[in-house]
Amino acid sequence: MALRINIRLLVSKLMNAEFKINSRLCSNFSEGENVENLKTVDPSKDRTKVIPVETSMKYLQSSAYKQTYGEKPVWTLYRRNHKGGFAPKKTRKSCVRNGVISTGNPCPICRDEYLVLDHRNIKLLEQFISEYTGQILDAFDTGLCQKKHKELLVAIEQAWDQGYLTYDVPFREQSWATRDSCGEIAARVSNPPPMPLIVCSTRRHVLLTVPVSPDAPHSMVPK
Ligand SMILES: [Zn+2]
Repeated sequence: MALRINIRLLVSKLMNAEFKINSRLCSNFSEGENVENLKTVDPSKDRTKVIPVETSMKYLQSSAYKQTYGEKPVWTLYRRNHKGGFAPKKTRKSCVRNGVISTGNPCPICRDEYLVLDHRNIKLLEQFISEYTGQILDAFDTGLCQKKHKELLVAIEQAWDQGYLTYDVPFREQSWATRDSCGEIAARVSNPPPMPLIVCSTRRHVLLTVPVSPDAPHSMVPK
């Protein structure tokens, strides 16, 4: 009997101890939640708000934008903080974590929430295209974080495809005498043209003309 009473006492003590531990854990968890809720996010660093493209396009034409950036591109006066005398080769992955800016020196797009990357926002996209080569500027030059640079590439490609942005293609004169259309013209001409031209055009802005002699072997002809 004495043993049974002792076992019952032990079991009741264990149950009480478990109850106390559970109650403490629950109280700590609720307090932690309350602390998180009490933390206020700085509105200037909050990036959870979605700003429509139309608002961004209006902002780029407003006096507030001109007062902030002037006539220069938005990335001109941006300098990234880094240790030592040389900047890191890659820009940071992202400036925003969990909808809040996590760095003291965010990239030119992340620091201004009204700069929205979209294929319709031409005035912003033009600032990231080189006026000399017509190609998209590197993230190392503009200082954009990798996430925003990828968004920029997608937006510019869409703008090119849908005709919002134009790109230059060099004009090349075509001569019917040197053009071999189905072999008919070449058969009529008694004297074949001296140096036929083979045009190798890559994607954009590059047009390479390579003169090839008619006696050259096939291995010399670029594909
Ligand atoms: Zn960024």
